[in-house]
Amino acid sequence: ITPTEPKPIIRLKESVINKIAAGEIIHRPSSALKELIENCLDAGSTSIRVTIKDGGMKLLQIQDNGCGIKNSDLPILAERFTTSKLSSYSDLSHLTTYGFRGEALASISHVARLSVTTKTAAAEHAWKACYEDGKLVPAKAGQTADPKPCAGNDGTIITVEDLFHNTPTRLSALRSSTEEYARILDVMTKYAVHNYKVAFVCKKSGSSTPDLSSSPASSVSQAVNLLYGTSIGKSLLQVTCGPDPNAVHTSKDTQSWKGEVVFTNASYQSKKFIFLLFINHRLVESARMKRAMEAMYTSILPKGFSPFVYLSLEIDPQSVDVNVHPTKREVHFLNEDAIVERVCNVAQDRLHNKSQSRSYPTQT
Ligand code: ADP
Ligand code: MG
Repeated sequence: ITPTEPKPIIRLKESVINKIAAGEIIHRPSSALKELIENCLDAGSTSIRVTIKDGGMKLLQIQDNGCGIKNSDLPILAERFTTSKLSSYSDLSHLTTYGFRGEALASISHVARLSVTTKTAAAEHAWKACYEDGKLVPAKAGQTADPKPCAGNDGTIITVEDLFHNTPTRLSALRSSTEEYARILDVMTKYAVHNYKVAFVCKKSGSSTPDLSSSPASSVSQAVNLLYGTSIGKSLLQVTCGPDPNAVHTSKDTQSWKGEVVFTNASYQSKKFIFLLFINHRLVESARMKRAMEAMYTSILPKGFSPFVYLSLEIDPQSVDVNVHPTKREVHFLNEDAIVERVCNVAQDRLHNKSQSRSYPTQT
């Protein structure tokens, strides 16, 4: 047998590399929106308004009242790895922003038509810039590619049109626009609960009534009541927790962390488990945490019924690795076992009414 001749190794073209990378970050309209919401929050916005056409495939527009972007930064805004949030690798260990890799806008510009209208408080007027494949492009044929002066409020409007128009397989993998819209509302509702001081609005293009509208609330439970409805809202319990003061510490688990749990009692019984998990303010998923939470209710709810649980964990950024997954959906942290166990114990005690008062351990 003669071995087959190996194929030559070639260097991929940059446009191919960028499109592959973009596909890892932007899976569907709701993942683009998540990145854009995080940018608004990073920019200090108190109002975030989203307009959607065709499940986000045709149009996804997001307007904020944050710090805006300087005109001088617009030329490199949509290039890969351009960011105002990170400059050295060590910054990753004390990150306080959602963004850090400068990949979101770049990725979007590789799989959609992206335009940005932005104004800083100091600027006399707004600027509008259009991007494709990471670079500035003319808004219309015959125009120059430079940002154009225009009227606009302080803050930023990001417009994403024709998402995945140039990646047909991705486009065909998407569900109906109804389902994509439902995912968009789901992500926004979760961010609106966690960022309850920020006003979120989401509507379909052409519709005058928003499908999601949150006015600033005074607490997470108030926001849950507002956004998920009173049947959940009236059944809510709340605990805060931290490291078990009675635990025998190993050298590794002396780290400090705190958790806030807002969860329904036995009087709320739903077919669907609603679980919101934020780790250091980032919406993430953890199959393990989810299982642990469900297990907590097995002795409380009838079989086949599920609760609502909001869990926000704040862990020393040094012990969380946010850079394990392109969508940042998955994060790794030290002492996962101990933290999961402690959170469940404290919440379970409250469920069984063992501790009427909130438990907050003293730091030792
Ligand atoms: P990252 O968030 O990782 O920095 P992005 O591609 O999401 O990367 O954004 C690139 C940069 O564009 C950000 O660092 C920020 O300076 C700027 N930016 C993006 N969106 C906004 C916004 N809504 N308001 C103000 N600045 C923004
Ligand atoms: Mg970002």
